[in-house]
Amino acid sequence: MHLTTDLFQPIPGTLALMGLLAPSYGAVLRHARRPRRGQLGLGALCGAAAAFAMWQGTPLGEGWIVDLRSVPVTLAGAYLSPPGAAIAVLIAVAARLGLGGAGALAGCLILVVAAGAGWLWNRLTRPRPSMSWRALLGLAILSLSHVAAMLTAPPGMLRVLLGEVLPVHVPLHVAGVTLVGLLLERERLAAERERRLTHAAERDPLTGLLNRRGLDRALGRLPEDAGLAYLCCDLDHFKRVNDAYGHAAGDTVLKGVAERLREALRPEDLLGRTGGEEFVIAMPGLDASEGARAAARLRDLLRSRPFDLPEGEVAVTASIGGVWTESPLGLDTARTGADEALYAVKRSGRDGVRFEAARAVRRRRALEPA
Ligand code: GH3
Ligand code: MG
Ligand code: MG
Repeated sequence: MHLTTDLFQPIPGTLALMGLLAPSYGAVLRHARRPRRGQLGLGALCGAAAAFAMWQGTPLGEGWIVDLRSVPVTLAGAYLSPPGAAIAVLIAVAARLGLGGAGALAGCLILVVAAGAGWLWNRLTRPRPSMSWRALLGLAILSLSHVAAMLTAPPGMLRVLLGEVLPVHVPLHVAGVTLVGLLLERERLAAERERRLTHAAERDPLTGLLNRRGLDRALGRLPEDAGLAYLCCDLDHFKRVNDAYGHAAGDTVLKGVAERLREALRPEDLLGRTGGEEFVIAMPGLDASEGARAAARLRDLLRSRPFDLPEGEVAVTASIGGVWTESPLGLDTARTGADEALYAVKRSGRDGVRFEAARAVRRRRALEPA
């Protein structure tokens, strides 16, 4: 068979493996519980595609093989995490060394250069907010740098590579990287759009805090055995702030309250705005007395100094009702308990804290073996 037609032989198989890459990549970006492991799996897929291309490759004699291994490895460098790309390169290098021959080292160098070019392109072109086939053409051309490794071939082989192989290999590499790259880029942009929508659906637009939906989801992800302090915080007579300074000033105060609370909490604490001037704070890993102290500290923090607005200084106080629960599993009870405690504070004059831990603690003691 003629060399040029031989070069086309492994393309269907390599493309079939590459075709699996795009949906798998999309699934890892969207759903993977362990994205790092997912990236390693994708790296293994790219490595397997490169190994397949080499096993099906066209032998040129003297231990040189020509194939499209450069396509999956370039894309691994461009789209996967560095460990994922490293797995792809390692598998492909092992496969090339296993095939042996005089061209083995140059064959491995091709893999390293292609993956490195992919990584460099990703660095240079990030962020890519929209689909750009030009950017992908740029990736295909930059990754043609792997061809330089062929220059290490002895003169006779070099003539075959330059005269017969490159005129076919270069367009195939460019077409393969651009087309499969377009599929990956589509998955990446779709996953990014989905992430933005989910984020927006779970946030309060005024303060950027979690809304009820986001809070519920985040609470559901808390470890089951962590004690939890759950607080409802409602600003006192907030209607009067709006009446005195205007709704826009009221909004600024709400943002200021959110910021003040956020700064006072730990990164693992959850903070949400669940109503107009109502905030929920969930603090995992605290015991009941720490929860009570935290509630008092937050109430003091809000009343400690007024909010400085162009319209004037606005003093704010809050009523906080809180409950300690052994585990987020008892969340419904905690929510009702915190609401009841909050309204008890409101009834007794506002600007105060009521923290209910006794019931939860007693229940815990009752469950413990004597
Ligand atoms: P209380 O001490 O009983 O909680 O009195 P309050 O005035 O804070 O409570 P009430 O529930 O009567 O009114 C809440 C007010 O919060 C009504 C509304 O003017 C204000 N509010 C609710 N959402 C927003 C908002 O997004 N922006 C602004 N500026 N005000 C809001
Ligand atoms: Mg209020
Ligand atoms: Mg309210």
